[in-house]
Amino acid sequence: MKPSKTPPSDLLYCFFAIEIFSLLLLISSWGFVPHRHLHAKAWSALPVQLRHALGNDPTPLISRATDADSRKHTDSLESPRHFIDLDDATTEGLQLWGQNWADAKRVLIQRDSSLSSKRYGILPWQLEWSYKQLVNSWSPKDSTEPDLDQVIRAAADLGHYLSDAHVPLHTSGNYDGQRTGQRGIHALWETHAVEWLLYGRDLKACGKIDALSMPYDPVWTPWEVIQESHALVPEILAAERTWTALCAKRGQGFQRRGRTMHLAPTSSSLAIWDSLTNGHTWPRYCIAAQRIAAAWHSAWLDAGRPLGQSRSRTTWRQKLALYLPKRWSNWLLTDPNRP
Ligand SMILES: [Zn+2]
Repeated sequence: MKPSKTPPSDLLYCFFAIEIFSLLLLISSWGFVPHRHLHAKAWSALPVQLRHALGNDPTPLISRATDADSRKHTDSLESPRHFIDLDDATTEGLQLWGQNWADAKRVLIQRDSSLSSKRYGILPWQLEWSYKQLVNSWSPKDSTEPDLDQVIRAAADLGHYLSDAHVPLHTSGNYDGQRTGQRGIHALWETHAVEWLLYGRDLKACGKIDALSMPYDPVWTPWEVIQESHALVPEILAAERTWTALCAKRGQGFQRRGRTMHLAPTSSSLAIWDSLTNGHTWPRYCIAAQRIAAAWHSAWLDAGRPLGQSRSRTTWRQKLALYLPKRWSNWLLTDPNRP
């Protein structure tokens, strides 16, 4: 039989599934599942009054944990909020660590005014702004009641950016090993390894989170977190070289994810990865959850411990009105003689 030049459709299907999945991993941070787990974990550590101030329902907060990543598709200003390339700035002779944004911006513009002042990312400053946004959402300047949706949005974003700050490769210009021939290392660290830990049989407890006693400074804590993360970058790059050498042949396998199959590191190769990185991923994950809880708690205190408000419930009339023609829905919602 003559060999066909067209690849079998199954093969094409697999190829596209792999490509699309890899793209999704590259544009997300921590991965959608770990981000949501982190918010859920942080929620579990909050005191009762603070849970009430967040609507007493973790669902919206958890489901919005990845909004910031989704916004990258529609908002060109979003991307720099998720990283800071400390090494690139240092190579340029720019000391950004610990600077306030006004000073950092001046330095960046003085060096090259033709480039964006956000070219190395703005993660530490974004964390400071997101914190203020949460405080302001809880304590509006016009003394009106806090808008719960706005509070949840601000808390979810603060938690998201803080999670990103705990990822070592969000602090480096070589964020996906693209400069050192190590492409894929980003997803390996923050998605494959974390999901393997979360879904593994030996899931370890994080230890008790005490959000009430953990200090969180909106200006300095982000820099400290970023410094911790950045210090792990050389270790991760070195571990990946050894891991690739050890697992080159049998380290990847097809896995089902939803309706698609994709190529991903196998469980045994991820166990090797974990030992090569000295098991640092899980403690990093746990401290991220702890700091998210501490940040929400600290913002709540700064806002003057606002009380909770119950989320207004949608009545059956309001639900039904969504599906009716306008004049009928108006009658249903406004006619005093309605049933
Ligand atoms: Zn992100």
